[in-house]
Amino acid sequence: MHDNTLTDRTRVVRLPKRGVYDRPVIDAILDEALYCHVGFAVDGQPYVIPTIHCRVGDLLYLHGSTASRMLRALSAGVPVCVTVSLMDGLVLARAAMHHSMNYRSVMVLGQARSVTDPAERCRALEAIVEHVARGRWREVREPNEQELRATAVLSLPIEEASAKVRTGPPIDDEEDYDLDIWAGVLPLRLIPGAPISDPRLRPGIALAASLEGYSRP
Ligand SMILES: Cc1cc2nc3c(=O)[nH]c(=O)nc-3n(C[C@H](O)[C@H](O)[C@H](O)COP(=O)(O)OP(=O)(O)OC[C@H]3O[C@@H](n4cnc5c(N)ncnc54)[C@H](O)[C@@H]3O)c2cc1C
Repeated sequence: MHDNTLTDRTRVVRLPKRGVYDRPVIDAILDEALYCHVGFAVDGQPYVIPTIHCRVGDLLYLHGSTASRMLRALSAGVPVCVTVSLMDGLVLARAAMHHSMNYRSVMVLGQARSVTDPAERCRALEAIVEHVARGRWREVREPNEQELRATAVLSLPIEEASAKVRTGPPIDDEEDYDLDIWAGVLPLRLIPGAPISDPRLRPGIALAASLEGYSRP
């Protein structure tokens, strides 16, 4: 494991005390986030594409159609920036300019590679499904040859990365604490709704065990 992911490019410059370079912190944020945003440039045009990711040890895996521009560009080795953000709360200060958000976010820089080894591809696809809903892989039909041929899998090493974390109450100017204005935090989190069965679900099929008690992380 690369324990220290700090480089000149990943050093948090604005509010550096919020920068974290410890792999356990980075990994926990990557694991809780359902999806990431993948930034890369093609012919000078930046694109930022939302995509499911998963982490296995020191690697982030992405997958998609072999026809995807994103996956074709990344497998050609263009520099990539992957970000995830978890929103933990709205921070309402007494002063307009001190409003903020509590969050945990991660940025990973590097170059992805195309995963070609069939066993690693299969493990990565399983990990992506498990990242979305733990236990789901064992409940479903495995990919067939045609589906595997149409699917690209990429890996990105988590070597150059940073986390940035804000927690706690607002930070107002000292003289503003006497104002008669409510201030504090509105916690926000991702909460699953009630599952909606597929209208074509055959009668008598019980809810997937992987959804029982679903939560992130
Ligand atoms: C939460 C989430 C998870 C996803 N997970 C995956 C995944 O795991 N694998 C995967 O392959 N795809 C995933 N997608 C879809 C992904 O965002 C892209 O649409 C898809 O990968 C096609 O990429 P592309 O580079 O081939 O786009 P292209 O079709 O080549 O893009 C052409 C143009 O279409 C528009 N466009 C493309 N995608 C989007 C978008 N998402 N939103 C708005 N405009 C868009 C842009 O203008 C872009 O320039 C996910 C999307 C979301 C929102």
